[in-house]
Amino acid sequence: MSELNAIIESYGQLEIEMRQCMQQVCEMFCGRCQTTCCRPVYCRESLDSPFLAEVRRRFAPGTRWDAALGWLTPTGCGLVAGRPPVCYEFLCRTILDAQPSPQARFRLEALAVLLTDAGRRAAGQGHLVEMTDLDRINAGRLTKQLAQARSFLDDLRKELRLNQS
Ligand code: SF4
Ligand code: SF4
Repeated sequence: MSELNAIIESYGQLEIEMRQCMQQVCEMFCGRCQTTCCRPVYCRESLDSPFLAEVRRRFAPGTRWDAALGWLTPTGCGLVAGRPPVCYEFLCRTILDAQPSPQARFRLEALAVLLTDAGRRAAGQGHLVEMTDLDRINAGRLTKQLAQARSFLDDLRKELRLNQS
């Protein structure tokens, strides 16, 4: 497997598990909220970004793009992986204020930027999802950042399981 393929694989797997974790925390709020935070203009980055397109091809093939709604479906985002990182970054006041402790809030905020942080400085100062030439990525740096993100996520998932038991 090439370095780029390995990065796409690690990133996509990380995104899927991170999304599940965020869903676990946010679902009870978003599920009954009347606000639609999603906008087709945000969806668009996943079409424009060569890296996110690769993640989508690998992890969400066949997901249908709608010219008016982007990836949004009546049941929420139809894209299981390859979403723009910004889609995970937004945490509304309701969700933040409902966190049981400052530590829980801090962990949730760190989780929300996991992909953003993992893709930083992919080439120079550029972010992985903004790169037009994937041959230029700094594979060593990204591999290290993805490993750090994986370690954070694994610890957090253990904690969430403990809190549930
Ligand atoms: S993030 Fe907040 S405002 Fe947006 S759908 Fe969820 S609960 Fe509603
Ligand atoms: S979460 Fe999905 S539907 Fe919502 S803005 Fe992001 S890509 Fe679009």
